[in-house]
Amino acid sequence: MARRYTAQFASGGRYGSAVVPAHQKRHPAISLWPARGEELILELHIHSQFSYDSLLTPEKILKVAKYNGLNGTAITDHETIKGGLLAQRVNRDSGFAVIVGSEVRTDVGDIIGLFLHQEIKSRNYLEVIDEIRDQGGW
Ligand SMILES: [Zn+2]
Repeated sequence: MARRYTAQFASGGRYGSAVVPAHQKRHPAISLWPARGEELILELHIHSQFSYDSLLTPEKILKVAKYNGLNGTAITDHETIKGGLLAQRVNRDSGFAVIVGSEVRTDVGDIIGLFLHQEIKSRNYLEVIDEIRDQGGW
């Protein structure tokens, strides 16, 4: 049995839905989780100043996300979790989720890892997935 929830992805105004398998409990890093029928609005892919293609500070990302009514954001800088870690440190709102992530370039394409604690070292597709899972990430 799977639980369905919908999430509004702020990037490009797209909407998506995801199925959470029944055995998949909410991730412990997220203190808020939507009750049945409620919507959790998250931005799951944004770069900060720790990426070569962004000038946004983590503080600015949080400010804009909250202003726009989001419940949380995942900071997914290229090849590093530094932006997410800094955003987690400066987040003063316990009702706003900051997810530490990274966008990793692999031999066959980019992979986004969420709920990370350590930098991803490999650039091999399957090894990157293993590294994400080994640290409890999605
Ligand atoms: Zn990206």
